[in-house]
Amino acid sequence: MRLVLLGPPGAGKGTQASAIVKKYNIPHISTGDILRANIKKGTELGKKAKEYMDKGLLVPDDLVVSIVKDRITGDDCKNGFLLDGFPRTVNQGEALDRELTQMSLKLDRVINIDVEKEVLIERAIGRRICKNCGATYHIKFNPSKEEGVCDICKGELLQRNDDTKETVEKRIEVYIKQTKPLIDYYMEKGLILNVDGSKSIDAIFKEIVKALQ
Ligand code: ADP
Ligand code: AMP
Repeated sequence: MRLVLLGPPGAGKGTQASAIVKKYNIPHISTGDILRANIKKGTELGKKAKEYMDKGLLVPDDLVVSIVKDRITGDDCKNGFLLDGFPRTVNQGEALDRELTQMSLKLDRVINIDVEKEVLIERAIGRRICKNCGATYHIKFNPSKEEGVCDICKGELLQRNDDTKETVEKRIEVYIKQTKPLIDYYMEKGLILNVDGSKSIDAIFKEIVKALQ
């Protein structure tokens, strides 16, 4: 199964992605996670990306497109993959289509999760990420058992640099201008599955699984 998760920042893409990849046994490809890993390692890509990410802007298309091209041609992607946070511009969507066509492959579904702006801001500001394993929590909606400590690996929970109110608002603005046009792009291809992201994490997951059957 080849899937894309689309939606504004804080909609719950990463949260659903973790459950979807477990169920369908496919790799989770999050361009945001890959870029953050590069920042942590101090690579050239990480240094370039950080300048954009800290401001809530998109990293240039050529950088993310080459990350994804490399990744989806990997052996572990033979039975499918879940792209989370990519594509984020129509240009990236077209580049993905060209790459898949070359590989004689197609996307199966584009899951579009949407939530109203106020909820997005509250979700993003309260998000906490495990420093070690990357698991995602929310201080109010999905808290860890022990405050500040990951349930899975006991790692420290941290707030992302770009999860401040100001940066989240900028990211939502960028989403509306640059990413939202992808909904029409995939609608025309008959691939869109619209999901109401205001429901509970479990309810959304069940809805997605049902629609993918
Ligand atoms: P995205 O990957 O779209 O930016 P995340 O999956 O990281 O979003 O979710 C953003 C925050 O909202 C996280 O703290 C997560 O725990 C929380 N969250 C995700 N889905 C829901 C939901 N359905 N209801 C309440 N909180 C949620
Ligand atoms: P995310 O983890 O998906 O919320 O992404 C965090 C940040 O990484 C974004 O605000 C962008 O700066 C950058 N980023 C992630 N994916 C992409 C992409 N496909 N295109 C451009 N920038 C991206």
